[in-house]
Amino acid sequence: SGEVVVSGLGKSYGAARVLSDVNLSMNEGEVVSIIGPSGAGKSTFLRCLNYLEIPTEGEISIGGAHVVAGGKLPDKASLDHLRRVTGMVFQSFNLFPHLTVMENITLPQRKVLGSSKEQAEEVANKLLKQVGLPDKAKAYPARLSGGQQQRIAIARALALSPKVMLFDEPTSALDPEIGLEVLAVMRDLADEGMTMLVVTHEMHFARDVSNRIMVMGNGGVLEIGPSEQVMSEP
Ligand code: ADP
Ligand code: ADP
Repeated sequence: SGEVVVSGLGKSYGAARVLSDVNLSMNEGEVVSIIGPSGAGKSTFLRCLNYLEIPTEGEISIGGAHVVAGGKLPDKASLDHLRRVTGMVFQSFNLFPHLTVMENITLPQRKVLGSSKEQAEEVANKLLKQVGLPDKAKAYPARLSGGQQQRIAIARALALSPKVMLFDEPTSALDPEIGLEVLAVMRDLADEGMTMLVVTHEMHFARDVSNRIMVMGNGGVLEIGPSEQVMSEP
């Protein structure tokens, strides 16, 4: 149920048209990198998929959730479902600074899933191992490097068992060598079959890890195709 079908997606801010007629179909387990210049609409597109921005028109089916965009929020049940099946990771890690790593990862499970403390901590410990930080449960975010914080942000997003992961320039705020440890976690996730949409400037990731590359410009899709094909063009 990790499929994604987006059709005719559009977004305007008043008279300013930021996205128009964006279409995308992804199979479960597919990884698509989104590239393009600043202002192309990449971030807005990603944020429309889980209604952090409200799309003006189009339809979205993602991870089993379906919404028809009408410029307003869908009913609460649809919105909750949409947010449950999509995990999002931002450029700035957005961890809660006053909570420990363990509390950051368990809070969404307790609030959204109603998990017990023990259940949530068991899941969190597995995820901390998965992102290579099994001994950081008690640390506060400020004590961690940017790369470690971003890996915790990935663990937190995974804690709700999303069907599709959305990444918005996850390594752009990091030094290149620190970014590599985050990209390694993302590569593992892709190998495990997670459906992923990744806005990125990392051309190695786009070419080597993603199945397809979508090139955006001017609020639309300029091109989409197999990674080797898109990257080999002059
Ligand atoms: P990208 O991620 O490709 O850099 P964005 O999605 O951030 O592009 O932005 C696309 C366009 O939408 C830009 O021209 C930006 O100025 C505009 N935009 C983004 N948010 C708003 C907003 N709240 N109101 C008006 N215009 C916006
Ligand atoms: P980023 O590239 O990291 O997304 P931006 O500077 O593009 O950062 O956007 C920061 C915030 O400002 C976002 O919430 C975006 O929606 C908003 N924004 C961007 N462009 C505009 C604009 N032209 N008018 C109003 N809000 C905008």
